[in-house]
Amino acid sequence: MRKILLATLAAAPLVASAAPIDRMLGDVSAARIEANIRKLVSFGTRNSLSDTDSDARGIGAARRWIKAELERCGAGTRMTVAFDVHRVESGSRVPRPTDFVNVVATIPGVQPESRARTYVVSGHYDSMPSDPTDGTTDAPGANDDASGTAVAMELACVLSHYDLDATVILMAVAGEEQGLYGSAGFAKAARASGMQVAGMITNDIVGNTRAPDGTVNRDRLRLFAEGVAAQKELPDPVVQALRTGGENDLPTRQLARAIEDAARTYVKDLRVDVIWRRDRYLRGGDHFPFLDEGYPAVRFTEPAEDWRHQHQTPRVENGVQLGDLPEFVDFGYVAKVARVNAAAIASLASAPSVPRGAQIEALRLEGDTTIRWQPNPEPDVAGYRIVWRATTAARWEHSRDVGKVERFTLTGVSKDDFVFGLQAYDRDGNVSPAAYPTPYYPPR
Ligand SMILES: [Zn+2]
Repeated sequence: MRKILLATLAAAPLVASAAPIDRMLGDVSAARIEANIRKLVSFGTRNSLSDTDSDARGIGAARRWIKAELERCGAGTRMTVAFDVHRVESGSRVPRPTDFVNVVATIPGVQPESRARTYVVSGHYDSMPSDPTDGTTDAPGANDDASGTAVAMELACVLSHYDLDATVILMAVAGEEQGLYGSAGFAKAARASGMQVAGMITNDIVGNTRAPDGTVNRDRLRLFAEGVAAQKELPDPVVQALRTGGENDLPTRQLARAIEDAARTYVKDLRVDVIWRRDRYLRGGDHFPFLDEGYPAVRFTEPAEDWRHQHQTPRVENGVQLGDLPEFVDFGYVAKVARVNAAAIASLASAPSVPRGAQIEALRLEGDTTIRWQPNPEPDVAGYRIVWRATTAARWEHSRDVGKVERFTLTGVSKDDFVFGLQAYDRDGNVSPAAYPTPYYPPR
């Protein structure tokens, strides 16, 4: 990865290859995030049913500003910005035919072997007052979800100035409050077109640090990661993983582990708490449609939500200010959330892909563990790493770099007693999420 030098940056020193992700995180600006959240609030309402003609108020003005702002901050880079329109004729929260319009910024990967591999980061720019179908009342949506929108925008503005191997899409989606329509439209089209979404992160409600009881927590961020999807018919690869205790090692949880690892490496002042659950009770988010299409997808949300400032028409009741107003957003915290996202996406998009064809040899009864796999296609792969942990542990506890081979035996480590994973790493130390090795039984 290297930083692209624009004419305006010509005086800057050449970027050293050491720790480029640290440099990138230094580009994340709390001031720009605050300005963007305040600007989004200034459109009065961004309800998906609000006015689309005005240049000052409503969701149309908001999305035109988001697109123009992304084009401005990505000028001179390879990033492209486009509207992505999904028409919905009717629904419980869609009283009339409505166009749900996402703003999609795409940073193409620079490595030919990795360009098709795509990571998606989103926030939803639509908002709601107390009534989700009210398109006229003020709905500032500073935290839900101008905060997540500002994170996605900040990533676009920062990452577009760097070369990443894989493709990264940053998007502001509409229709979340109506029923995840913008995200669903994108995810369905992605699946239909064969897009390889290797990981998706939605940032939704990532800006409040004061719990309803007044306690403040600026040091934690929740990451919701589903295990086995709750569906009656399971796909064959899932069933195969379940047969050997791989229920916590499907791609979404492996993605969560990789994000947690990147956060721990690069962002010391914000701890990612992985929660093994699809989402909070009674809530949902834009990762759902991606999960439903079979893509690994997770959700970031602040540690302690204050529901007085979500989905509420701004008003004072019994001396209490209700409403999702900017005064309840901690902009410095949102910047930390943006840094966690940037660290995770930059390391994922720089790292090799998840190794393919990983299998654990089950040819005889033995006390050793032998894993075999296919070589990765990327030219900068430096080697492979076998990781393992107790079957009851959540995070990897042991690792062994085994070099650039396609088969390795861990002598004296019993496959019966641990869960294993296989990662690939590149010359700069960027590590892929782990593959869960399925059993290789003796050929009959
Ligand atoms: Zn939301």
